Amino acid sequence: MLSHTENVANFEALPTYLARHGADVIWRTNNWGEPAIDVSSYVKASDLRSSCKGEGCKLDEVLLTNLIETIESSTKQKILIVLHTKGSHGPSYYSRYTASFNQFKPVCREEEISKCTSQELINAYDNTILYTDHFLAALIAKLESLQNIPSAMMYVSDHGESLGEQGLYLHGTPYSFAPDYQKNIPFLLWASDSMQSHKQIDLELSQQGASHTHFNVFHTVLGAFDFQSPIYRKDLDVLSTNFSPSQSK
Ligand SMILES: [Zn+2]
Repeated sequence: MLSHTENVANFEALPTYLARHGADVIWRTNNWGEPAIDVSSYVKASDLRSSCKGEGCKLDEVLLTNLIETIESSTKQKILIVLHTKGSHGPSYYSRYTASFNQFKPVCREEEISKCTSQELINAYDNTILYTDHFLAALIAKLESLQNIPSAMMYVSDHGESLGEQGLYLHGTPYSFAPDYQKNIPFLLWASDSMQSHKQIDLELSQQGASHTHFNVFHTVLGAFDFQSPIYRKDLDVLSTNFSPSQSK
């Protein structure tokens, strides 16, 4: 997801690349398993918790703590903030959301999820989606409150999850025979009004390309920052008027 090319054997991850070229790159994590990265600031959820208020502080919402203050206090013109959430990672789907998002019931509360009924597992997973929706709405509301700073948000999953279809659970099935449940992912973009006018973005043009992939991430972020780079590919930048879904494999 952080690579500019499918040739992932030897690449510089997007956050490291941007930090090396002068952007303020802040990585906040409530998860693990990141590649080697060299950024301006690497912050764990446990470092944010003491300043966080509310029930969501033990969950992904902790990553929103003092977010606006962090952006406004940056001395750089270009700021990339990565919020590495737990999202809908299994097997403990039931532990990924606060009580008010326990809407689909009953839910699976077993670590050994194959002991649950299919519906209990789906219910717990669907509750994580409700919580993620809430998380993204809260994030957008914060960005909307930014005065005089154009901003955009991109939300991309690293993978989907199998919930017992064809006897498969979780993720990590080798790509060549992984089911679509693990390969098809959400990819959301939001841009503030000032960002849309500053960049002359027409979100209508960016909607629902047939073949968006993880390789759109690097080039779309570079384009949003107006980074000039020989490795930048306008055809993979979904906010570019030259974006061509057919070429983005
Ligand atoms: Zn993952």
